[in-house]
Amino acid sequence: MTDLRVYDHISGAVGWTPLVRLRRAVEGLAAEVFAKIEFMNPMGSAKDRIARFMIEKALREGRLRSGDVVVENSSGNTAMGLAMMAAREGLTCRMVVRRQTSQEKLDCLRALGVELILVDGALPPDDPESYNRKARQVVARTPRAFFPDQHNNRANNEAHYRGTGPEIWKQMEERIDVLVAGIGTGGTICGVARYLKEQDRRIRVIAVDPVGSVFHDYFRTGRPGTSRPSLLEGLGDEEIIGCPEFELIDDMLQVSDRDAFLAARDLARLEAILAGGSSGAALWGVRTIASRLDRPARIVTVFPDSGSRYLSTIYNDDWMRRH
Ligand code: PMP
Repeated sequence: MTDLRVYDHISGAVGWTPLVRLRRAVEGLAAEVFAKIEFMNPMGSAKDRIARFMIEKALREGRLRSGDVVVENSSGNTAMGLAMMAAREGLTCRMVVRRQTSQEKLDCLRALGVELILVDGALPPDDPESYNRKARQVVARTPRAFFPDQHNNRANNEAHYRGTGPEIWKQMEERIDVLVAGIGTGGTICGVARYLKEQDRRIRVIAVDPVGSVFHDYFRTGRPGTSRPSLLEGLGDEEIIGCPEFELIDDMLQVSDRDAFLAARDLARLEAILAGGSSGAALWGVRTIASRLDRPARIVTVFPDSGSRYLSTIYNDDWMRRH
C-alpha cells in the first residue's frame, strides 16, 4: 500500500521527498544540480526525519513513554517534528526557542500546542539563560523530562544516514560528484556524507556555515572562532557541539546572511522553489563550488525548509532593507 501513500499517522509521510533538477538558478554553471526538497516532509522540514527517528528509538529502548515531557532547544523546525511525534505518542512538548525566531515559526509551534520557552538569541553560549544552556536547566526541573539533545545525539546523524542518504543515492542514479549542504547540528550533512562516501569514496562533501558561527574556524584551524549572532536561522552554532563529524567534510564555505537571503529570493523567482534562508545558503554554496570546477560535475544539495516560514523576514522587502 505504500505506493498509494496511505498512512495511519501523519508521521508515516516523513521521508522520500522529491529530488528536483535546478535550471535557471544555476544557468551558465558547468554542473548538473539537483536539490532534495525537504520542506515536503509533513511538518515542513528535514528535521521531521530526526524527530521521528530519535523518538522511535527512545520508545523502543524504553527511555520514553506516553505522558513524558519532551524538552529540546530548536531553531523551530525540530520542535515542529517533535510536536508531530508528541501528538502520536501522547507526549508534551516544551521547547526552548530563540525570541528572534521568525513569527511564522513561533505561530506554527503555538498552533501545534507546543509550550514555548523563549530565550534571547544574543546571549553568549555559556550564559545559563542562553539557547545553548537553557534546555538542560528545563530538563533538570521537569518531572518525566526526555531530552533528545539533537546537537549532541548522533541518532540525529543516523536518521540521515539511514534515510536521506540512501534516498539521494537512488534518486541520483548512483552518480554523484559533490554534496553541498548547510551545517547546523551537522546531522544532515554528516549522515548523508557518511552514507554517500561508503558508496563512492570520491564524492566530495562541502559544508556551508554562516559568518558568525564557530564551525568554520574550527574546521580550518582546530580552534573555534569567536561567535556573533547571525540572522540566518538553522545554520551554524556559537560553540562546538557533538554531532558534526568534521572528518567527513572536505571543505567548508562561509556564507553571509545577505548572500544566503538573496540566493533564496532568486530560487523563488527562478525556480518557483519557495525555500528558507538555509536553502539560499546551500544554493550560494553550489554556485560558489560550481564556478571553481575544472570539469562538469553532478552536484546534489539539500533545501531544509520552506520560505513560507520566512514571509515576514527574508521575503519581506522592508525587513530586508532594515537589515
Ligand atoms: N536549515 C534549517 C532551516 C534548519 O532548521 C536546520 C536545523 N538546525 C538546518 C538547516 C541544518 O540542518 P542540520 O541541523 O541537520 O545540520
